[in-house]
Amino acid sequence: MTPMAGQIPDVLVIGAGVCGLSSAIELLRAGLAVTVYAADPPLRTTSAAAGAIWGPHLVAEDERVARWAGQTLTRLRELARDPATGVREAAGVAASAAGRADPPGFAAAAGALAPCDPAGLPRGYARGWRYRAPVVAMPTYLDHLTDEVLRHGGQLHFGPRLRALEEAAELSAAPVIVNCAGMGARDLAGDPELVPVRGQVVVVANPGLTDFFVGERDEPGAVTYVFPHGPLAVLGGTQQPGETSMRPDPAIAGAILRECVAAEPALAGAPVLAHRVGLRPVRPRVSLGPARGVAGRHVIANYGHGGAGVTLSWGCAREVAEEAGLLLGGPGRPPPADGSRRADGAGAQ
Ligand SMILES: Cc1cc2nc3c(=O)[nH]c(=O)nc-3n(C[C@H](O)[C@H](O)[C@H](O)COP(=O)(O)OP(=O)(O)OC[C@H]3O[C@@H](n4cnc5c(N)ncnc54)[C@H](O)[C@@H]3O)c2cc1C
Repeated sequence: MTPMAGQIPDVLVIGAGVCGLSSAIELLRAGLAVTVYAADPPLRTTSAAAGAIWGPHLVAEDERVARWAGQTLTRLRELARDPATGVREAAGVAASAAGRADPPGFAAAAGALAPCDPAGLPRGYARGWRYRAPVVAMPTYLDHLTDEVLRHGGQLHFGPRLRALEEAAELSAAPVIVNCAGMGARDLAGDPELVPVRGQVVVVANPGLTDFFVGERDEPGAVTYVFPHGPLAVLGGTQQPGETSMRPDPAIAGAILRECVAAEPALAGAPVLAHRVGLRPVRPRVSLGPARGVAGRHVIANYGHGGAGVTLSWGCAREVAEEAGLLLGGPGRPPPADGSRRADGAGAQ
């Protein structure tokens, strides 16, 4: 790898999805010099394919996840005051076909929930709860995050896919490397615990909807959702463990459209504008914190957020900045870069 030109940053962030960009912003706000390096620009990441709504989903929940989600909820609600960020506090419904007694976990933490009159729910759904949560138009939001990285003095570089973290160390002499590579972390960090769960969405012209809808159907993992974003609406969705094709599947797109029109008849005939596919990086535990060092550099992991990367982004980014501050700015010698403190406490990065 040819070293990148320019000043040596304090931190090299690998990845320009929602986790990499948020981490870069928190590191910059902590006063550190930051370069982001990525194979794919923000609008071609899994992050760009997300719906997206705040709410822990398809992520192994532990005590850290609740904290990161809460911190991110606060930050997204602040960002929602400015529509240019792509974040909007919206009202909507979480519905369940199975007639479950409790609201789904992804909705419960957002605040007050009001049970819906079942008669007013789409056909096939037995229970529903009305609530408010931040919804995020991801392409607009990723543009906003990119602008923030640059505004705070960060650098962005795009180039070939790295085969190993050692190649990141060849790119830059930054003493700290932050691994925000999403699914790419499986190869970069040699982490076999990371598995893809493919998601596909259909983007249509919005017929005038403002409220979101998330419906859990009877089959395990079958979720139907509608997220209106101004002139567009993102319709989903799919959860396909182990699938890695990035090509939109027309049969899946047709099924998504059918389910969404059944839930929201105003969508019938809405022009289809785009198809998006992403691979959710699912792991038994989110990998966050100091990991095995490479070439004398410290490595901080921040990957494995599953279906909740947007939901956890700011809480995780804050923790990355704290770890980097400890490694770079603490009194005396920094701790050894030998991975003796591991990212998930389980000895694996
Ligand atoms: C259909 C769908 C709907 C979703 N809905 C939601 C939702 O409503 N709410 C929510 O919170 N989450 C949602 N998610 C999950 C969320 O999108 C992910 O958790 C999140 O995007 C992960 O972000 P990331 O920054 O870790 O990874 P990514 O967005 O995948 O970014 C990874 C970055 O790392 C770079 N990279 C990877 N490997 C290498 C390498 N070897 N060398 C150089 N660069 C590399 C890539 O180029 C890219 O820039 C959804 C996902 C999908 C697919």
